[in-house]
Amino acid sequence: MTKTRHSRLIILGSGPAGYSAAVYAARANRTPLLITGLEQGGQLMTTTDVDNWPGDVEGLQGPALMERMKRHAERFATEIVNDQVQSVDLSVRPFRLEGDAGHYTCDALIIATGAAAKYLGLASEEKFRGRGVSACATCDGFFFRGHRVAVVGGGNTAVEEALYLTHHAEGVTLIHRRDSLRAEKILQARLFANPKIRVVWDSVVDEIEGGGTPETVTGVRLSNVKTGAVTTLPVDGVFIAIGHSPNTAIFAGQVAMDGEGYIRTVPGSTRTTVEGVFAAGDVQDKVFRQAVTAAGTGCMAALEAEKWLAELPAASGSSPGAALAAD
Ligand code: FAD
Ligand code: NAP
Repeated sequence: MTKTRHSRLIILGSGPAGYSAAVYAARANRTPLLITGLEQGGQLMTTTDVDNWPGDVEGLQGPALMERMKRHAERFATEIVNDQVQSVDLSVRPFRLEGDAGHYTCDALIIATGAAAKYLGLASEEKFRGRGVSACATCDGFFFRGHRVAVVGGGNTAVEEALYLTHHAEGVTLIHRRDSLRAEKILQARLFANPKIRVVWDSVVDEIEGGGTPETVTGVRLSNVKTGAVTTLPVDGVFIAIGHSPNTAIFAGQVAMDGEGYIRTVPGSTRTTVEGVFAAGDVQDKVFRQAVTAAGTGCMAALEAEKWLAELPAASGSSPGAALAAD
């Protein structure tokens, strides 16, 4: 039988928010337990160049940055456990967490579970996932060496994925539902200057088509949202880059969230509607969603958790998150 493990502070998530919280909490001698989740290192493990991490003038690779953050957290005695938490109970004290590999309890919890890629929701997309449909160019781009690929989306991720894919693919088509991109201007300039990339504007993917044995992607059927024209674009791979949803399913009904599932925090703070539970990073931020802002709120969460733990006997009764209401 698995033993239940108690910690004063648990940090859930190993992205920039989780590791930053760990560095601050460990330096306050809280010996936090950080549970990594399946995606060890978080979203930046799926990218290459990170050009906007302050202090790294030449830029650096996402996985290298996350490895450095991990080592930094370990240097100050954070205990790191590789596990994925499947359910939590925040109605009891201490809080309870059930993982695939263990059971945990804690007095304070920092939720830094980040966000995960969204998909279009087409049955054909599901059918070809892993056989021509992907949400991670750095993970799967290599398989499309010399082939034609499409990227769906108009934000930073879509543009970066398209640029990255030009290193492998023969040609890259960016499909966007509007006539202008949401991505930063510097990325747009790189995209438009790249001769291997073309953009199909005002278009949505109706279906992903396949053929052959075993069946793989052969093209995408597109509708132009302005003219209604339906066309087929022949491609061998489709990369979906239409944004992310917060990883908050296990907290449903336990902490207040907005209509899109982002955890609500008290303005200027990382406190949630449950006393002793703090949220940092993309899981509570649908506006900025950057490594540096995730790290910043991770720091805030650790400082607030530390203060809360220090005042624990006096803290019961009043609810710091009472100002929040569920949508
Ligand atoms: P995440 O990085 O999403 O990490 C979440 C963590 O929570 C993961 O470790 C996961 O395993 C864990 N987790 C989730 N559920 C559970 C669970 N049930 N139990 C235990 N653990 C769990 N930002 C920049 O500033 N610069 C960039 O250049 C940049 N490039 C990007 C490129 C791509 C392709 C993408 C997708 C994003 C990029 N971003 C970039 C955004 C940046 O990656 C995010 O803002 C940042 O990673 C958010 O950090 P986070 O710690 O909140 O969450
Ligand atoms: P995003 O900024 O939310 O962009 C999503 C894109 O997908 C938008 O262009 C959107 O179209 C489109 N889209 C959404 N749903 C769609 C659907 N159902 N069908 C077709 N298109 C759809 O997401 P992101 O690009 O993943 O970026 C997420 C966050 O990470 C952002 O804050 C971003 O700045 C950050 N990030 C930063 C970097 C960097 O700093 N270098 C790199 C990657 C990501 P509309 O434009 O019409 O809404």
